[in-house]
Amino acid sequence: MAGEPQADCLFCKIVAGEVPATVVRDTETTLAFRDINPQAPTHVLVIPKAHHPDAASLAAADPAAAADVLREAGEVAAQEKLPVAGGGPGTGYRIVFNTGAGAGQTVFHAHAHVLGGRGLEWPPG
Ligand code: IMP
Repeated sequence: MAGEPQADCLFCKIVAGEVPATVVRDTETTLAFRDINPQAPTHVLVIPKAHHPDAASLAAADPAAAADVLREAGEVAAQEKLPVAGGGPGTGYRIVFNTGAGAGQTVFHAHAHVLGGRGLEWPPG
């Protein structure tokens, strides 16, 4: 059933405390923790605690939880003191939802990547 923990899901195991993670924020509906393989000075993953396979299915099944993930992504950026103003290299940050294996999704539990602290090129690779 949508939202139920999945026994074979890494991020459900992190939510359950069965796999360790460096948690930076914890709310009733979301968890934010540092990516194990950081691609930028700040690289935090924000996940819904409920299991949904990707961002679009999360938003369809539980729009409020999707909004919680987005709000928490912004809170992570503020907590990490990622500068937004100025517009120079290293300002601003990126919120990324890889969706589908072809786009680089490797963990099929919805998650936002919050990336910042260095120049971020566009288009992404
Ligand atoms: P995806 O490739 O967009 O699905 O993102 C999955 C992310 O999870 C990758 O950036 C991985 O580095 C990260 N990751 C995988 N295992 C762990 C872990 O145990 N703790 C924290 N991050 C992880």
